Amino acid sequence: MFDTLTDSFTAAIKKIRFHDDDKALTKALDELKKSLLKADVNHKVVKELIAEVQIETKKNGIGKDQFLDALRAALYKLLEIGGNKGFTFVPNPPTVILMTGLQGSGKTTTTGKLANYLKNKQKKVLIVAADLQRLAAVEQLRQITTQIGVELYENEATKNPVEVVAAALKKANDGIYDVVLIDTAGRLAIDDELMNELEAVKKAANPSEIFYVADSMTGQDAVKTATSFKEKIGIDGVILSKYDGDSKGGVALGLASQVLVPLRFIGSGEKMEDLEVFLPDRIVNRLMGFGDIEGLAEKTAGAIDEKQAKRLTKKIQKGQFNFNDFLEQMESMKKMGSMKSLMGMIPGMGNMSKALKDFDMENSSELKNIKSMVSSMTLKERENPDLLNNSRKGRIAKGCGLEIVEINRMIKQFKNAGKMAKRFSGKNGMKDLQSMMG
Ligand code: GDP
Repeated sequence: MFDTLTDSFTAAIKKIRFHDDDKALTKALDELKKSLLKADVNHKVVKELIAEVQIETKKNGIGKDQFLDALRAALYKLLEIGGNKGFTFVPNPPTVILMTGLQGSGKTTTTGKLANYLKNKQKKVLIVAADLQRLAAVEQLRQITTQIGVELYENEATKNPVEVVAAALKKANDGIYDVVLIDTAGRLAIDDELMNELEAVKKAANPSEIFYVADSMTGQDAVKTATSFKEKIGIDGVILSKYDGDSKGGVALGLASQVLVPLRFIGSGEKMEDLEVFLPDRIVNRLMGFGDIEGLAEKTAGAIDEKQAKRLTKKIQKGQFNFNDFLEQMESMKKMGSMKSLMGMIPGMGNMSKALKDFDMENSSELKNIKSMVSSMTLKERENPDLLNNSRKGRIAKGCGLEIVEINRMIKQFKNAGKMAKRFSGKNGMKDLQSMMG
């Protein structure tokens, strides 16, 4: 997700050849400055960061380690303005969050993503449909909440968001919800009507925090609108959406210091899983190419259900792993997001070869073929791959539009994978693996 920025930092770091002299430091700083400006980090932010790194490096004696330490400290200082926060819960639930933003910024989608993030943390969430301006917003929330399995409060009988919010909170105040997320109306641009409505909704909701969703594809405009919202209704955090479409990525680096409000989350795709918590201490590690193991654990924990994992292990041990399990596995892999977004979280993988980083689980043609082959099987065939004789294979090939040799190859591959999995999940698994590797 922070590929471009990470690349900038690691490239600058790599080029440093310190021989304990001032010239080397100047060169390294020049390199860093150039790449940060290229990544669209605000020039004032760059200037301050460079000055800070220079002073700190000199203080401790010029060398690569001193430079890296100074850079790490300066980055952290820059990002943690307003705190190292993520999502914060109030002591007496529910935590009420007002989701604000301009129309099209991704506010409604982000509300769903945030609910999904909290649900994965075992929190009970209520989403309130209080965007009654954009016609499709309520329907969009219906679809999202059904998809992620979160409750929605809506009231079609009124066009008054204040009424909706008041009634929703009455329902939520019995304490069964941990978090209430209120999706508010947006406009194409900031105007008085919008601010008046938000002010009234804010009064009715008495929110724990107000989040502003900013479209990162608008570059420095995202900073400007966030600042306006902060001045007009007060915001406690920013969520940058559409970070996947922002090839430069520098806005994320300067935002907290420019708006003086912390960046809390980053949205990086259209799917519900495409949201990452923005915690400065973790992000600094990633930017410097050290990965983010904690973030990785969080993402995979949300995607893989422990019970499901145990059930599958048992099936594999008994040699009963079938095509249905296979599809299920593929689905949970998909839930984890693209390989690309996970790769940067693994230490040392931050600047891996582009080819591997770009591997796209969902669009891989091999995986697509396997999926369409399985879809053409009957339920019995999926459960029992041994049923697949030549006439059945022929029917499946026709059904999914693939050649029979392809079908044979994929079935063989699947059976081999099953055998291997069985072998290594057994009691002597590790021994077998070791002996095989010599
Ligand atoms: P709203 O008017 O602010 O509520 O905006 P929506 O939530 O309807 O989002 C507008 C469009 O942006 C939709 O097509 C979303 O799918 C898309 N969108 C939202 N967040 C992201 C993101 O992080 N990445 C990408 N690529 N698209 C996004």
